Amino acid sequence: DPQGRHASQSLLPLEEAEKQLDGLAGPTVELPDRTFVDLFQERARGCPDAIAVEHGTVRWTYRELERRVNRIAHALIEAGVGTEDVVAVVMDRTPEWIAAALGVLTAGGVYLPVRPDFPVERVVAQLERSACAVALTEPGSEALVRAVSARLAAPLTRLSVTRVLARGGHTEPPSVSVTPGQAAYIYFTSGSTGSPKGALCEHAGFLNHLYAKIEDTGITAGGGDVVTQIASQCFDISLWQFAAPLLMGGSVRIVDTRTQLDVAAFVEEIVEGRVTVMQVVPSYLEVLLTHLEQHPRPLGALRSVSVTGEALTYELVQRWFAAYPDVQLVNAYGATETSDDPMHEVLHGVPERDFVTVGRALRNVHTYVLDENLALVPLGTPGEIAFSGVCVGRGYINDEERTREAFVPDPFRPGTRMYRTGDFGRWLPEDRLEFLGRRDAQVKIRGFRIEIGEIENKLLTMEGVREAAVVTEGDTGEQRVLVAFFSGSTEVTEEGVRDFLATVLPDYMVPTHIHRVDRLPLTENGKIDKKALARPAAETA
Ligand code: ADP
Repeated sequence: DPQGRHASQSLLPLEEAEKQLDGLAGPTVELPDRTFVDLFQERARGCPDAIAVEHGTVRWTYRELERRVNRIAHALIEAGVGTEDVVAVVMDRTPEWIAAALGVLTAGGVYLPVRPDFPVERVVAQLERSACAVALTEPGSEALVRAVSARLAAPLTRLSVTRVLARGGHTEPPSVSVTPGQAAYIYFTSGSTGSPKGALCEHAGFLNHLYAKIEDTGITAGGGDVVTQIASQCFDISLWQFAAPLLMGGSVRIVDTRTQLDVAAFVEEIVEGRVTVMQVVPSYLEVLLTHLEQHPRPLGALRSVSVTGEALTYELVQRWFAAYPDVQLVNAYGATETSDDPMHEVLHGVPERDFVTVGRALRNVHTYVLDENLALVPLGTPGEIAFSGVCVGRGYINDEERTREAFVPDPFRPGTRMYRTGDFGRWLPEDRLEFLGRRDAQVKIRGFRIEIGEIENKLLTMEGVREAAVVTEGDTGEQRVLVAFFSGSTEVTEEGVRDFLATVLPDYMVPTHIHRVDRLPLTENGKIDKKALARPAAETA
């Protein structure tokens, strides 16, 4: 190869290497030299009276949203926020939260979402790690942010979004230029060593993903699309759920967690809200579909359902198309580190194979399947899935060591970064990728990404706990739960462990079942025998 990029591919015939490097890549589509920030401003000018955000009975037009975004951006700039400064948005999912997120981007800052119900310790760790000095708050999060600020070396600059918006003034965008190579956001994901990792992504990757989602879900300019905003604000998929419709003149419909828990109310929301596009995790799709099978009804304007975060089963797909043959399913696969989902399988019916693939690479994305030396494996052979191209984030913020492990130089495209997913997969003859599971102890519970090691390490920091192990119980889906086992001083009770974990971990990481044992079972090699632990858990569940 004239570019010398096949140097490390001596094991594969040139033709096959070529196919893997070019033929299986997503199409090359030139990205505009612009970012979401100015594209949103332009759209808002184009359709000022269209509905941009819906939440319960609240409706904001594009003009109303844009003004708020600009006010927040100006307030941030006045508070000293400059290019790539990290701003924590500690807010629940409301229209103001969307304005705050866009305000941060418009000021040239980096958006860091924090849930107001997160434990103080976790928020302190995230803000310290990301050198975050400014937080946007709402009345419900002020106490948390004050407590966090008191624990930081330098107190936070705290801005109340409610107050900023009440003040009025400034409706024009600030004169800040935001460039495609600039950092856009950070999402913290669970980390096996005990401290979460802050994945930092750039505007170009963010925009590339938005365009791909818009294309695959068929969102058209000014076409009256309504996209649900369902995901937790700390889950990166929450971003496209509001950004994609706002790029196109469509409307974001925020659906509260309470409504999601009441499936009948959720269905009502989809139908009454004339929702056209939504995204859920497979476990929620299963709950929703089970309800709809028992109470059949048409889903109004719904056209596309994206599913992500965990493997989508063939059975679920069969059931979906039996009930809703006209509503497409998009199986989206990827990681927070790769600007959300760089692979899509768009399904218009039950696939021919008896499993669901994760499809093909999106535009400007290269997908590789590699061995442990980072060489391409022959087509059809299992290997680790890696991504290259515009989707690859910059790394974990202020964490060189863990960045170096996962973000490596792309051996095939010198000068670019490649992200190693830790997932296994293989190419199928029809040029689609099959997902084969994880290399490490990362699990998904209701779509939340969890490193088992982080929970175990937290458990071991509790006084009196000597040994700790966490396993999962139940299949994928709503039934899957975390189960913890510990041994140690008799003063440590199961309830005590639960209370302790609840103060240091988000609720979705606190095990459902906690068991005290005299000693943890060991394998012949002296390692904790997790297989043996999974069994007693099954009996107690
Ligand atoms: P995302 O926001 O795209 O769900 P996360 O960073 O939360 O990404 O989790 C990434 C991991 O989740 C992947 O490495 C993979 O193990 C799993 N995952 C994501 N999407 C899928 C999918 N469609 N099928 C199977 N596993 C998936």
